[in-house]
Amino acid sequence: MPYSQSVRGKRKTNTRLGELDLVRELRARAARGTRAGVRLGIGDDCALIAARSGEELAVTTDLSIAGRHFRLDWHPPEAVGHRTLARGLSDLAAMGARPVAAFLSLGLPTELTRASGHKSASSWMSRFLDGLLRLAGEHSVPLAGGDLAQSPLAVADIVLMGAVPRGRALLRSGARPGDALYVTGTLGGAAAAMERMKMQVREAGRIAKKSEPALAPHLYPQPRVAQGMWLVRRRAATAAIDLSDGLSIDLGHICEESGVAAEVDALALPVAAGATLDQALHGGEDYELLFAARPAVRLPRAIAGVRVTRIGRVVRRRKGKPTVTLVSPQGRQPLEPRGWEHFK
Ligand SMILES: [Mg+2]
Repeated sequence: MPYSQSVRGKRKTNTRLGELDLVRELRARAARGTRAGVRLGIGDDCALIAARSGEELAVTTDLSIAGRHFRLDWHPPEAVGHRTLARGLSDLAAMGARPVAAFLSLGLPTELTRASGHKSASSWMSRFLDGLLRLAGEHSVPLAGGDLAQSPLAVADIVLMGAVPRGRALLRSGARPGDALYVTGTLGGAAAAMERMKMQVREAGRIAKKSEPALAPHLYPQPRVAQGMWLVRRRAATAAIDLSDGLSIDLGHICEESGVAAEVDALALPVAAGATLDQALHGGEDYELLFAARPAVRLPRAIAGVRVTRIGRVVRRRKGKPTVTLVSPQGRQPLEPRGWEHFK
């Protein structure tokens, strides 16, 4: 529901938030991002999206909750906004879809919608939008609608709509024995940055502004939208997924959906600087792409400026054998999917 519509209905019962002003701010800022794919953005009962023939729509939704996916006392609001959109864009990237429009629903405690009155005049919400809209601008995806409500808990729900040539979306289910496995970028950087962040909070009680660049892999992950679209254009991949939960879990998803098994070469993994092998294997939220390609396909070293590394292969699934095997000089061992801990 576009912001103006949701507010029209609530105007009489709840003006404490100054909702109209908030909506005006949202609307003004979102409108700057409007572009060809969105015929009508915020301001009517629905957004209108121009569909192109020969394409199908890819739609994904992601919920971020304070205390679980982010912490108000740890994460700068800009980073929460960035991460909210990055998670949705990364899902589009995993399908090879071109982003068309984003829809944002926010539930916020009143104090987060008010200017703090201290050094910065901006409210938490305004800074959240700074981060979200900056990333939206980088990917030319307009904010085309959403909803806003007062809530005891800060909640951000993002819906991303993308488009992909019909029948060409990258699925988790297309990997075949013999395929090579690749990842974009480096792995474990987000988990390593989060460890550093936790340590800083333990020692100093908060995140120092000057340390934010070092925490960027966690605070400002870059969804691999251009790389996913490249793979679709070149028909280079048989299957893909984005690494949101960690390699050990997400590779398991590809194996499950494709009915195959996989081997990962420990020495081939592009471990991020400052990260451990364990973080590269099990750390979540790197938002790199993991994909499979036929063995004859020759891939460049980098796609759209991001390095691509061959990390293993797809093999036939055998009863009683592990689904994913880690191969290292020490031998072969099953790579168990290990859970990704959110903030508790
Ligand atoms: Mg995903």
